[in-house]
Amino acid sequence: MLTKDHAICIRATDYSETSQIVVLFTRENGKISAIAKGSKRPKSSFDGPIELFSCGQIIFAASHDSKLATLTEFEQKSHCSGLANNLFSLNCASFATELVNSLTTEYDPHPELFDQFLQFLQNTENSSSNRDCLALLILFQFSLLKEVGVQPILNICVNCKTRHQTFHRMPNGEDARCEIYFSSSANGLICRDCEPAFTDKLKLSAASANCLTDFKKIADANDKTLKEIEKVLIYHFTETLGRPPKMAKHILGRDDVG
Ligand SMILES: [Zn+2]
Repeated sequence: MLTKDHAICIRATDYSETSQIVVLFTRENGKISAIAKGSKRPKSSFDGPIELFSCGQIIFAASHDSKLATLTEFEQKSHCSGLANNLFSLNCASFATELVNSLTTEYDPHPELFDQFLQFLQNTENSSSNRDCLALLILFQFSLLKEVGVQPILNICVNCKTRHQTFHRMPNGEDARCEIYFSSSANGLICRDCEPAFTDKLKLSAASANCLTDFKKIADANDKTLKEIEKVLIYHFTETLGRPPKMAKHILGRDDVG
């Protein structure tokens, strides 16, 4: 049975002189792995070799006895080719793509995540600064965690349920006691009273903690704060996946990742 869908290519490898094996993130069917026979021939029903980040309408046949579906058409409308103009935006898009591939399972549809991913790629392609790319990446990473069902708890202390505001502001208005940690094993923010019970954690600056409890602040956050938040996310993805994501070192540099 042939199925029509919209897809973004999240991985493409050569299979033979003329064919490719691709991993596509589709809107209605989730992630699929497929063979594209003849995709590298000059004339094919794929609009040329299938490239990473290409998106458009596809037709495929799922296979009952093999893992690979057969891709019969791919109308590659957009290649997000503008990403190649800026190495950092390309790295951010590649990192997001790696995470989508790692955190989704085949034939498990996430239409909203598909729409957000497409929007992220287009916004990143059009963004003019590295800071903006990093802010877009951070927001997309939180959307991804939410869509795959492992959204971190950021409004209250995961352990004692104290609201964030009450543990970083003293009655006299000072926020000197602001000590908030992110713990991956707790899947969220923990306060300073609960912090000793968690061995895996990162201490946050007040600026980062404020962004994490109110995503609207990410749009105006400075470079230092964004890098700190991204460090938290990379630590969290490393714990979640059981290994560091391959692209992580291209986002913050080896020193920052630690
Ligand atoms: Zn607590």
